[in-house]
Amino acid sequence: MSKLKPELEHTSRNCWDVYASAVDRKALAACADSYMRFLSTCKTERETIDYVLDAVKKAGFSETLAASTKAYARVLRGKSILLVRRGRKPLSQGFRLLGAHADTPRIDLKQHPLYEDTDLGLMKTHYYGGIRKYQWLARELALHGVVVKKDGGIVKVCVGEDPNDPVLTITDLLPHLAYKQVEQKVSEAFEAEKLNAVVAHEPANAGDEKRAKDKDRVRQRVLELLHKRYGVTESDLFSAELQLVPAGPARNVGLDGSMIGGYGHDDRSCVFAALQALLSEKTPEHTQLVLFWDKEEIGSEGGTGAQSLFFEYAVADLLAAWEPKARLSEVFLRGMAISADVNAAVDPDHLDVYEKRNAAYMGYGPCFNKFTGHRGKVGANDAHPEYVAYLRNILDKAGVPWQMAELGKVDLGGGGTVAKFLAVYGMDVIDMGPAVLSMHSPFEVLGKADLYATVLAFRAFLKS
Ligand SMILES: [Zn+2]
Repeated sequence: MSKLKPELEHTSRNCWDVYASAVDRKALAACADSYMRFLSTCKTERETIDYVLDAVKKAGFSETLAASTKAYARVLRGKSILLVRRGRKPLSQGFRLLGAHADTPRIDLKQHPLYEDTDLGLMKTHYYGGIRKYQWLARELALHGVVVKKDGGIVKVCVGEDPNDPVLTITDLLPHLAYKQVEQKVSEAFEAEKLNAVVAHEPANAGDEKRAKDKDRVRQRVLELLHKRYGVTESDLFSAELQLVPAGPARNVGLDGSMIGGYGHDDRSCVFAALQALLSEKTPEHTQLVLFWDKEEIGSEGGTGAQSLFFEYAVADLLAAWEPKARLSEVFLRGMAISADVNAAVDPDHLDVYEKRNAAYMGYGPCFNKFTGHRGKVGANDAHPEYVAYLRNILDKAGVPWQMAELGKVDLGGGGTVAKFLAVYGMDVIDMGPAVLSMHSPFEVLGKADLYATVLAFRAFLKS
């Protein structure tokens, strides 16, 4: 027992205690089930945006911005989306924005991917985002993406998800021959140019003696298969985005099934929670904006990343339609935003990299990062204390458990999010999201109670 007066001391609350009633547990389980279906379906940014657009259209969102439109969706190149629900107050009184990212670390195919070596058909890759390369070896991988033909026709590719589909794989060195490799530093032992996917083995024209000495017969057969299945030729792969991702559905984790294991909790758990929150809070005071970006994992670069001008263009268009006399700067300066992104949960096997008093723990709800960045807060958005106080108040009033942390020990690492790209507009912004284990791995782990609390936290924010 603490000797301090309880009201003077801060104690984090465990979500499983807070949501212990039968009603809460039922809602928590339903939330987890629906999330697992989403996570198993959406493995790329395009698939995620398609899913989101479909869901909001069913909820009455229109893709046309007219003066009368109350719920509006605007897609950018199939990879980013802005969702808008008009509030009772004019836009110039500010907005509530939830911004998350729909891209995930993965292994992309190169533009000249296909080759043959030692009678195996292989594909060259270039990884995307921060991965630990060895985690992607010797496991089932699915191929997702699009091939765009010269006439503009888009061919969608998804191989390896149906249990009857074949999968692809990147091989690993057997321990018997790894004596030299195990002495190397991890950063040197695994080379990007060795992350080549095995895609075929049977040669073309098998049994035809006259063709038996032809070169690259396996490669030839892969080209035949690609043409037969998708109508694409080798040069169509120049205008393709094909991504290798972990194959198969999300799974329950733990003997108690209290966690979810799967690919892409970072940041699809926040995409899901923000979408659920938006679909639940239908009559807001302030205009609600929910924005899902691409390219966060490579620094928010490019036309579809958070550094692009898409958001600014879109808000300018809203203002022109709804409140042409108001100033854009006014809208941004009065805006409130949550950069919805996951946190690193304390890993009991690696306690030494966390500072335990300022770390995120599984089970204690969504976590605020007042600032991100690295060593000395370099590259950080640092949320204003007035804003932190405002958010504490709405979450405590809503009875949602939450925690406050930073990413690991000060000198050990760090990271960035989209927060600083929103902060440049002068709006209030802070990072917040659930804590996950094995972040950026092919099998990240998220607690079901944390997911549920995150949805409720985002709801409380959107309706504030
Ligand atoms: Zn993230």
